[in-house]
Amino acid sequence: MPDQTSPPADAATMEKIVALCKRRGFVFASSEIYGGLGSTYDYGHYGVLLKTNVKNEWWRAMVQERDDIVALDSAILQHPRTWEASGHLAGFTDPMVDCHTCGQRFRADHVPELQCPQKPSKSPGEGPSCDLTEARDFNLMFETTMGPVKDSGATVYLRPETAQGIFVNFKNVLQFSRRKPPFGIAQVGKSFRNEITPGNFVFRTREFEQMEMEFFVPPAEAPQWYDFWRQERYDWYVELGLRKDHLRLREHETGELAHYSSATADVEYFFPIGWSELEGIANRGDFDLTQHTEFSGQKLEYFDGQSGERYVPHVIEPAAGADRATLAFLVDAYDEDEIGGEQRTVLRIHPRLAPVKVAVLPHMRKDGLPDVAHEVHTALRGRMQSEYDEGGAIGKRYRRQDEIGTPYCVTIDHQTLEDRTVTVRERDSLTQERVTIEDLPGELAARLAAPWRSPKP
Ligand code: ATP
Repeated sequence: MPDQTSPPADAATMEKIVALCKRRGFVFASSEIYGGLGSTYDYGHYGVLLKTNVKNEWWRAMVQERDDIVALDSAILQHPRTWEASGHLAGFTDPMVDCHTCGQRFRADHVPELQCPQKPSKSPGEGPSCDLTEARDFNLMFETTMGPVKDSGATVYLRPETAQGIFVNFKNVLQFSRRKPPFGIAQVGKSFRNEITPGNFVFRTREFEQMEMEFFVPPAEAPQWYDFWRQERYDWYVELGLRKDHLRLREHETGELAHYSSATADVEYFFPIGWSELEGIANRGDFDLTQHTEFSGQKLEYFDGQSGERYVPHVIEPAAGADRATLAFLVDAYDEDEIGGEQRTVLRIHPRLAPVKVAVLPHMRKDGLPDVAHEVHTALRGRMQSEYDEGGAIGKRYRRQDEIGTPYCVTIDHQTLEDRTVTVRERDSLTQERVTIEDLPGELAARLAAPWRSPKP
């Protein structure tokens, strides 16, 4: 796909996203009462709901809507040989430089984009007193000790990716899932990387969640499946509302490819920090299964009992980050406008991703309106995430919901008492329609399931 020029800047900046996340409790610094722990974050109520929706949409696309992919949840701690076989122990490194003056460490290839801690207008190494070392390799795996005896035999690693848990289970899954190539194994879970320079909020952290799928195919079919999955993954983000001019597929140059990969493409999003990777799709050949066969002595191959054919499947891997995707959806959704002379912050997010689908608001806290509102909320909450709110002026309550991206607000007023209709207000168009209480759950469910495009320019 041809490179594309960068779209014009819009309302979202990283500072505004961080502020909104903190203000509304989506995401906040971890261990805040102890002053925080460098670049680790905790997700609050709306953040959990949002990230869960992102992961559920991934599961839906990978497993629910396909018959050829099965789910897996492997352990974070794995046999240390796993990381020898995968190459992580020897080669999962980033180049690091130290500054003798300030004592800070920097990822060597990120230095031009970083700030010198003593002179922030300059990059590390450019300040008058900077004194950088030569770059040296730093392994990103977190090491820990298993069991009570601290000897070298007990060293284990927090997984730096979920993928290897899939490869080491290839035989198990093949046996129990009654699948044959082409088929895939999907996994979502925490990964850990001791990043030298984490940053940009949840874009790069040391503990994060990945959504990875390994698709095992007959070797001759690998190129066509690679093309299939790069397009499929790009389309997933578009379907969930990311604007196309903020999204691109970038094919890696030959020099950029990992030694085992014959082709890799990144889905990139135009974050406030510029074009950055959201997800990588790689043709990994037979590297992983061959390596684990060699290190474990167990044959990881496919044998077709009918044809007598035997081969090591090739692997196409779409590897995405749940936190990074969540950040992209937040950035893409963030908008500001004015209603009746008042400034509004609104998340124009896909209804399927919105943390809360509907807010039920009695117009006033009297005349029995809260009772009816409770009845409506109770009827809705079994079917969708619904929130009841009776505190404050109605305009203020609308603003609160707009800010967290709630697509629909349902208002119960005096007319409701006469004809059992409620007002449904839509977040983006601000249209208001009356719907009967009886029709409301079905009506909202249909609207939430409908295709959606961002109204942002
Ligand atoms: P990067 O070049 O940004 O370090 P990567 O190419 O090393 O990423 P992969 O190993 O391909 O990343 O991991 C797959 C996905 O996992 C990435 O596209 C990203 O969405 C997510 N991811 C990787 N590292 C981090 C991190 N430190 N924090 C948050 N998400 C991450």
